[in-house]
Amino acid sequence: MRRITIFGATGSIGQNTLDLIDRDRDAYQVVALTGGQNIDQLAKDARHFNAELAVTADPNRLAELREALSGSGVDAAAGPDALIEAAARPADWVMSSIVGSAGLAPGLRALENGAALALANKESMVCAGALMLRTAKTHGGTILPVDSEHSAVFQALIGEDLDAVERVVITASGGAFRDWPLEDLAKATPEQAATHPNWDMGQRITIDSASMFNKALELIETKEFFQIDPAKIEAVVHPESMIHALVGFRDGALMAHVGPPDMRHAIGFALHYPDRKTLPVERLDLVALGQLTFRPADEVRWPALRLARDVMAAGGLSGAVFNAAKERALDGFLDRRIGFQQIAEVVEEVLSRVSAQPGHIDAPITLDNVMHADHLARVRADEIMNK
Ligand code: NDP
Ligand code: MG
Repeated sequence: MRRITIFGATGSIGQNTLDLIDRDRDAYQVVALTGGQNIDQLAKDARHFNAELAVTADPNRLAELREALSGSGVDAAAGPDALIEAAARPADWVMSSIVGSAGLAPGLRALENGAALALANKESMVCAGALMLRTAKTHGGTILPVDSEHSAVFQALIGEDLDAVERVVITASGGAFRDWPLEDLAKATPEQAATHPNWDMGQRITIDSASMFNKALELIETKEFFQIDPAKIEAVVHPESMIHALVGFRDGALMAHVGPPDMRHAIGFALHYPDRKTLPVERLDLVALGQLTFRPADEVRWPALRLARDVMAAGGLSGAVFNAAKERALDGFLDRRIGFQQIAEVVEEVLSRVSAQPGHIDAPITLDNVMHADHLARVRADEIMNK
């Protein structure tokens, strides 16, 4: 039986992962499931899958979790240290699907155990790509991309020589506001931004899709994951979300990964890699689909894409600063302290202030330095939003 741990089990990716595990229960032993505020779901799944351990990230919810698990034989724990301890338990395959930079430390700890880490938490690669790759290499762990675009690129690259790659194109749906007149964006509300035209995902990534911060993170993730020159990486708007990414080779071939917008494909690919097993995803009817369309990814409408280019050029800890500033600005938008378009303004201002402080971007990429840059960026974002 394969030993499996899921970080962020109560979220959208976590639930899709459990859906796949549930279809072949006898093949897996669930080691640990982790969640945040959704104690009911966490306890229900921990019982159903007979997990060894359930962890909530919130120390104030431990008593509630214990109560919900009483008599089940499942151990309960809480808080950031308990997440690291869960990651230290030996497992063959670990899903990293906490949202935000909080997912970094548990994923790194799992890699130190030599686990195969299925990485949905793109923030890990954006904040600390070099550290993630180094840790996997040192301890014999593997990182398998779960972000649909990166899973697509990974699949298109199987058996290929990276030197033959001319370009990598990742697609973007364009999110909730792709057809809105620019002048209306100032009035956009969190509820409107949290409605995705194609994908069913967590609230934060859905709003990041509307602002294109999600695609900005993914451009950086592509550079870090595949170690590709940023000049070769592009984003294009593809409203149907059927092609997830394309890889262009020097002989002119462009290999596209096509499939319905269902994360269980990318999760299942990572779960069974290097095998391909039958997955419960819809099979495309190309004739019914009729046509696929593409539009430019406009950097005026979506300034996050321009900022991603700056971050890729700057390297170092700028990814950690960019991500943390975005996380905080998104909190500000959700709390209605800033408008939709101010999210990018806050992030740009944070990047410029932190970059102006010598040593902050160039420090070595260690977990401590990344978390320090993350903290500093949040403090600066608050200063800017509170002024
Ligand atoms: P959700 O918001 O649906 O789920 C997030 C999970 O993380 C939940 O289990 C939540 O617990 C937990 N969590 C939240 N905050 C913390 C914290 N501070 N510490 C520990 N755990 C925490 O997000 P998604 O599933 O949509 O996304 C997860 C990750 O996968 C993100 O990095 C996202 O960018 C990436 N991703 C998601 C895709 C999707 O289709 N959803 C596609 C590609 C990538 P609780 O809910 O109990 O509070
Ligand atoms: Mg994606």
